Amino acid sequence: MNFSEYPIESLMYITNRPEIVFTHGKGSWLYDNEGKRYLDFIQGWAVNSLGHCNEGMIEALDKQSRLLINPSPAFYNAPMAQLAGLLTEHSCFDKVFFANSGAEANEGAIKLARKWGKKHRDGAYEVITFDHSFHGRTIATMSASGKAGWDTIYAPQVPGFPKADLNDIASVEKLVTRKTVAVMLEPIQGEGGVIPATREFMQQLRALTKKHGILLIVDEVQSGCGRAGTLFAHELSDIEPDIMTLGKGIGGGVPLAALLAKNDACVFEAGDQGGTYNGNPLMTAVGYSVISQLVAPGFLEGVRARGQYLREKLLELSAERGFEGERGEGLLRALLLGKDIGPQIVEKARVMQPDGLLLNAARPNLLRFMPALNVTNEEIDQMMAMLRSVLDSL
Ligand SMILES: *Cc1c(COP(=O)(O)O)cnc(C)c1O
Repeated sequence: MNFSEYPIESLMYITNRPEIVFTHGKGSWLYDNEGKRYLDFIQGWAVNSLGHCNEGMIEALDKQSRLLINPSPAFYNAPMAQLAGLLTEHSCFDKVFFANSGAEANEGAIKLARKWGKKHRDGAYEVITFDHSFHGRTIATMSASGKAGWDTIYAPQVPGFPKADLNDIASVEKLVTRKTVAVMLEPIQGEGGVIPATREFMQQLRALTKKHGILLIVDEVQSGCGRAGTLFAHELSDIEPDIMTLGKGIGGGVPLAALLAKNDACVFEAGDQGGTYNGNPLMTAVGYSVISQLVAPGFLEGVRARGQYLREKLLELSAERGFEGERGEGLLRALLLGKDIGPQIVEKARVMQPDGLLLNAARPNLLRFMPALNVTNEEIDQMMAMLRSVLDSL
């Protein structure tokens, strides 16, 4: 079908979208309305952990949709309990609350921390967050985020989110007061440009929060669920946070998110937290399929191997073209271009013929790679060849 035949004019404007409509996808490939195919290294924004239309997810959706779609959040259902059990079995956390988006899971984490502060820390409510961090698009999570300009778009902000500098423990210590209830960070800043918190910094943060009797919250919406080569990115630092949020990859493409906490941090009382779709069986059944595939023997080793392969290829390209190297963990990586040519590369890669390539420039001076976790080395080679031909055409 021609682009002009789609009724897009009723969609509210929020951003500039290219004039194509995606119609179907399989694995690492997406297809548009004109039948052109694209090698997808965005994957729904690090969401489709198992690529497009994964068979296990399809089966889970199909089976659950015939059994039970929504009994109401006021009742138990089997997939919600099974997925919670799988997550607690494979993490250091004791309890799980399901939500529908990363922002909502983070709102839940902030509420849990504030409630905990009321109960255990004399009404403390401030959550120290970080410059360049991204925690979502609700008013509170925008206030928690350290994204430039976000303090003014919908002013006034929600108070109580002083900002420290990533990988600078003194900048955190300086902000701790009697009002502080928690420190919250992404173990790898995703939208900020794939900037990992160092192992040393994560360990210093754990020690600092313990010393002051406050909570450590990790936002693993982007870094979690296998993306970093371990099931959760904080495992790379050998620390146990008090609270963790998941989103994106946990649903493999369907709207699902989670708030996990250690027993000591679980202070919600009846009515404190909820949400119409929380723990709905259709989404949690899909999440169960996704997490089961991620924890299957050998899967995460494979992610680490392919992450290492991608890293080597990016380093080769960087040396060849005079770029500034690469960084990241597992299959969340960035190529540092050293100049603001990211958006131009992204555009050229997408319109390239006969096949397009979908890339993202989280910042103008870098490219971010977030392929399916089951991407193959051959697909990585294909991506590199396509990227080289785009660079040649600049
Ligand atoms: C994407 C993202 C969010 C927000 O998730 P939504 O599902 O878009 O609400 C929060 N935190 C991090 C680290 C993210 O990458």
